Amino acid sequence: MTAVENDADVIVVGAGPGGSATAYHLARHGVRVLLLEKTEFPREKVCGDGLTPRAVRQLIRMGVVGGSAATGDSAGAAAAEDGWQVNRGLRVIGGGVRLELDWPDLASFPNYGLVRTRLDFDDLLVQRAVAAGAKLRTSVNVLGPVLGVDDRVVGVQAEVGPDREPATFHAPLVVAADGVSGRFPLALGLAKREDRPIGVAVRRYYRSPAKHDDDYLESWLELRAKGSDALLPGYGWIFGLGDGRVNVGLGVLNSSSAFGKTNYRKLLTDWLANTPEDWGMTDESNAEGPILGAALPMGFNRVPHYTRGVLLVGDSGGMVNPFNGEGIAYAMESGEMAAEVVVQALARPAGAERERALMAYPQELKARFGGYYRLGGVFVKLIGRPEIMRMATKHGMPHPMLMRFVLKLLANLTDPRGGDAMDRVINAMTKVAPAV
Ligand SMILES: Cc1cc2nc3c(=O)[nH]c(=O)nc-3n(C[C@H](O)[C@H](O)[C@H](O)COP(=O)(O)OP(=O)(O)OC[C@H]3O[C@@H](n4cnc5c(N)ncnc54)[C@H](O)[C@@H]3O)c2cc1C
Repeated sequence: MTAVENDADVIVVGAGPGGSATAYHLARHGVRVLLLEKTEFPREKVCGDGLTPRAVRQLIRMGVVGGSAATGDSAGAAAAEDGWQVNRGLRVIGGGVRLELDWPDLASFPNYGLVRTRLDFDDLLVQRAVAAGAKLRTSVNVLGPVLGVDDRVVGVQAEVGPDREPATFHAPLVVAADGVSGRFPLALGLAKREDRPIGVAVRRYYRSPAKHDDDYLESWLELRAKGSDALLPGYGWIFGLGDGRVNVGLGVLNSSSAFGKTNYRKLLTDWLANTPEDWGMTDESNAEGPILGAALPMGFNRVPHYTRGVLLVGDSGGMVNPFNGEGIAYAMESGEMAAEVVVQALARPAGAERERALMAYPQELKARFGGYYRLGGVFVKLIGRPEIMRMATKHGMPHPMLMRFVLKLLANLTDPRGGDAMDRVINAMTKVAPAV
C-alpha cells in the first residue's frame, strides 16, 4: 500500500475563536495547519459578544489587541480607538441593588474587558491565524473523519463549495473546534454527557443611544415582566457595542424547572417590555434582526478531550464556564493549550511516544479547569433553586466586598501565586474540588 500524502501536519475543523486560536498558535511554531470552515467570513454567530479580561488576555497573546498600540494612557484606550467597546467591570442588578464592580487588578490578567460583534470578531481572529501562516479554506463542510489503522483518525471527509464537491484531506492530527454541535466528535462516538450543566441563551440587537456606550457589562440576576412581581426564569445581559447598538439577551440553565419548557423568545420580549422606554428596547422598530439562540455546553460536557488523533477545543469539548456562560476565553485558551501539546507531540516519532505527549492535553485541561468546573456544576444546581437564589441575591448584593469575591469567582480571575486573600480562598476551593 502506498502512503497517502498529508495535506498538512494538523487539520483544524471550524474557524470560530477556538479554531482560529489553535491555528494561530500552531502556525507560529512553524506547524503546517489547514483550517477548514464551512461558512464564509465575515459571518454572524449567535453570542452575547462580551469579553472578560480572561478573553482579553488571549487576544493579547494572539496580537489582536495590545502590542505597540498599548502605549497610551491605558491599554483599553488603545483598543477603543480600534473599534472595540471597552468595559471596566460588571454592573450587577438584583435584589433591589445596582452594583458596579470593577475588574480586579491582577498580575495575570488585564483589568479591562471588551465587546465586539462576532461578525467582526471572528473575522479578525481568523485573519491573525492566516497572517501567522495557517492555510484557511472556507465553504468546506467537514462531514466526518477518515480512519486509518486501529481506527485512528488520519484525515477528514468534506464537501466543498456551493456544489458540495466531495473532498478528502489528510493529516496525522485533527483538532475538532466545530462548536456546540460537535458533529466531528459525534462521528467518533463522543456524545454529550447528560450529567453536566448546559444552558440555552437567546439574544437580539437593538438600537439604543442610551445604553450603547456603557463602560460596564450589565448583568441582571432577576427578570420580571411588566406589571408583575413574579420572577421570570433566567438571567439577562445588556452589553453596549459602542456603535449605537446593544446586544441584549438571556440564558436559562438546565437546573431551572423552566429549562426546555419555555418560549425563550417570548421570555426576552416580556423582560424587555419592562425596561425603561428611553433605552429603546420596548420599541420593535429599534430591533435589528431576529431573536436568535443556541445552547451553551458547560463544565466539560464532552470527553475525552483527546482520542485517536483528535483533540477537542472550545464548545466542541463543552468548555463554557458554568459560573457565567462565558465560552470565548475558554475556546481560545484550550486552543492555545492544544497547540502547545501538538507541537511537542509532532516532534516525536508517530506511535507510543507521540501518544504519551498527546495525553498531556486532557491532563492539562483537567488541571487548569477541572476543579473550577466541578464547583461550577454545584453552583448551577444551587442557583436552579429559586429560594436559594433569592436568599443569595437578597443577602449578598448589599455587601460590595462579598460581591467583589463573587466577581472573581464567577469570572475565574485570580492570580495563581501571590494573589490577595480572596484569590487564595478561590484557588484553594478549586483545588479541593475533585477535578471532572
Ligand atoms: C446567546 C449566546 C450568548 C453567548 N454570550 C457569550 C458572551 O457574551 N461571551 C462569551 O465568551 N461567550 C458567549 N457565548 C458562548 C460562545 O458563543 C461560545 O462558547 C464560543 O463561540 C465557542 O467558540 P468555539 O470556537 O468553540 O465555537 P464556535 O464559535 O461555535 O465556532 C465553531 C466554528 O466551526 C464551524 N463549523 C461547525 N461545524 C463545521 C463543519 N462540519 N465543518 C466546518 N466548519 C464547521 C462553524 O461555522 C464555526 O465557525 C454565548 C453563546 C450563546 C448561544
